[in-house]
Amino acid sequence: MAFVKASPDAQLRLLELAELDTELSRLDHRRRTLPEIAELERLSARAAQVRDAMTAAETQLSDLDREQARAERDVEQVRVRIDRDQDRLDGGKVASARDLESLQSEVVSLKRRQSDLEEVVLELMERREAAQTARDTAAAEQASVTQESTAVTARRDAALSEIGEQAAKAGSARASVAAGVPGELLALYDKVRDTHAGVGAAMLRRGRCEGCHVSMSTVDLNAVRAAAADEVVRCEECRRILVRTAESGL
Ligand SMILES: [Zn+2]
Repeated sequence: MAFVKASPDAQLRLLELAELDTELSRLDHRRRTLPEIAELERLSARAAQVRDAMTAAETQLSDLDREQARAERDVEQVRVRIDRDQDRLDGGKVASARDLESLQSEVVSLKRRQSDLEEVVLELMERREAAQTARDTAAAEQASVTQESTAVTARRDAALSEIGEQAAKAGSARASVAAGVPGELLALYDKVRDTHAGVGAAMLRRGRCEGCHVSMSTVDLNAVRAAAADEVVRCEECRRILVRTAESGL
């Protein structure tokens, strides 16, 4: 059961070490699971969506601008032709009745065309207005996402720096406790710690391992009772170093 020997005092120090290691694992876990990290991921995805919406609205706006300019040019061309035909009609220079009739019917069809084109311009203006609204909405949302990201980043950084300070404190406390643990015992502790979620030693309290919370069998408990005080004993269940104290129930 035991290959390493260490004084009961040195073994007790392992409990301090285990407590500091638990604290360090807790801080590390907190650092990795800060709610701000998930929130920033969500915001960054939202920012990408808003950017896409913005690009789409801007592309649509410039397309509509081009279409509208073309439609307005068409309207203008038709208007010029109507004016010219009207001048000829008003000037009384069209002699033949057939020419007069054909000119009049051209004016009628040009006016219909003008009205159709004006309809198109109006529709384009409405669509342009909708695209403008979409762009403005995207721009406002972009501003709000940026603002929120800045605030969340500041919160995350503040939390990280607080965690960093606590970890530095626990780390230096750990170093000074570890300095008082004999090398062989510390090496064993660290080896167990690597395989047991950051905690290498546990107290034996009222016949139960505080590491895995399993009560020892009478046989195992008797073996621990029989072991010398400087023998390092291990939990048969989780293999952590079992530290005996006055509360061990031996
Ligand atoms: Zn155990």
